[in-house]
Amino acid sequence: MESFDLTVLGSGPGGYVAAIRASQLGMRTAVVERDRLGGVCLNWGCIPTKALLKLAEEHEVLKDAASRGFVVSEVGVDWGKLIRRSREAAEKLSRGVSALMKKNKVSVVSGSGRFLTPNRLSVRGAGGKTTEISTKHMVIATGARAASIPGAEIDGKRVISYREAMVLPERPRSLTVIGAGAIGLEFAYFYSAFGAEVTIVEYLDRILPSGDDEVCAALARAFKRRGMKVHTSSRVESVTATATGTRTAFVKDGKAEAVDSEVTLVAVGVKANVEDLGLEGIGVALERGAIRVDDHLRTSVGSVYAIGDVCGPPALAHVASAEGIHAVEHIAGKAPEPIDYSCIPACIYCHPQVAQVGLTEREAREAGRDVLVGRFPFSANGKSVAVGDGEGFVKIVGDARHGEILGAHIVGSEATELIGEVALAKAAELTVHDIHRAVHAHPTLSEALMEACADWAGEAIGI
Ligand code: NAD
Repeated sequence: MESFDLTVLGSGPGGYVAAIRASQLGMRTAVVERDRLGGVCLNWGCIPTKALLKLAEEHEVLKDAASRGFVVSEVGVDWGKLIRRSREAAEKLSRGVSALMKKNKVSVVSGSGRFLTPNRLSVRGAGGKTTEISTKHMVIATGARAASIPGAEIDGKRVISYREAMVLPERPRSLTVIGAGAIGLEFAYFYSAFGAEVTIVEYLDRILPSGDDEVCAALARAFKRRGMKVHTSSRVESVTATATGTRTAFVKDGKAEAVDSEVTLVAVGVKANVEDLGLEGIGVALERGAIRVDDHLRTSVGSVYAIGDVCGPPALAHVASAEGIHAVEHIAGKAPEPIDYSCIPACIYCHPQVAQVGLTEREAREAGRDVLVGRFPFSANGKSVAVGDGEGFVKIVGDARHGEILGAHIVGSEATELIGEVALAKAAELTVHDIHRAVHAHPTLSEALMEACADWAGEAIGI
């Protein structure tokens, strides 16, 4: 039986990062993985979807070529090649993780791990061969999978999850998306950009329910302008097969409605992968279907830690990585500061992009903060106008007295890159004044952030 200081179960952005940090700290480390290295993020999430979404944007640019001064006779789409390109990006990065494991001398054990005791794990590999590992500490990083709703069972063909949505053999003519969170919005935009008729059905009263009110409204307008149909406050009752695809039946304002389409994507959140790990046997406690952890990612069993989606929301790759590093440093006795979840950015890569950090204006007011808001539209930003994309705005939510950054919300081009500046400023406890007074390069989109902070102080120049 091989023994390790630390064994990590799962090799997603939580698990592989934790393993590398453990190796840096001198621990003899193993990663147990039943599938490809890199987890959902690299293989079936963040990475391949970003490849697809970039292609969707490029397709839109090509379709608009004439207005930009290009003469393009016809824009065709080789769907298979498009999908292959996204798979190649995923494969390349998965190979990259494999190389990182070798470089950091992390042992990769292929198979499904199951706890025998808190310090012993059986790993069942291909062909049913079982090996055992003994370990001083464990980090569970088994992630999550798509959740479903009663009446809309995912069959992988007509009723699909994000996984199938990434590799559909053909471009559907029409698509219904249940759920208007990150996954629903990204695929709604993607398929709409390639000409599918898209209908979104969301249970709550707006799309992107976790977003700032003004951002949600702007995004809803942008999606409707693109021709997507949006039904909010709509409870899905069932998805049934029809001769040509699916019928999604829902109740909106007490009235029964239905929409027919070729394919229905269920994007109603994720469910932690806690089954078949032997957790009950060793006494790891769960809470609302996820593993319960303390501020240091310790489970109810002292030597066992859990990180990422398997511990519940926020289900974000960068949170999993940060938690992985934290857990391992805590195991190594380094006493790291607990993670400040108020400084975690969240990004959606539809067009226009959406990014946010901290509180929404509404949350800040509900928390009793003395709120002052600054805004700046990209239509007044030189770089945006020059490159022909003036959609959206930056909104900064600050405490009225000293300018503490409470939140920032960006909708528009490169929002997902721009949010990093505010996330850093907030984490470093800088103020709205600090961003306002820092000289930003001209012409850049980041000037819109500086100007939103200037607007907060009543000193915006460009509007
Ligand atoms: P989500 O929780 O973000 O959104 C699910 C949406 O479905 C919500 O708006 C919810 O109100 C709605 N919903 C729930 N039940 C419904 C029903 N019966 N009928 C209609 N609507 C219903 O979940 P998701 O979009 O599936 O994403 C899963 C996780 O992955 C999230 O935590 C998300 O943040 C993460 N993710 C992040 C990114 C990114 O960072 N770009 C991309 C994809 C996924």
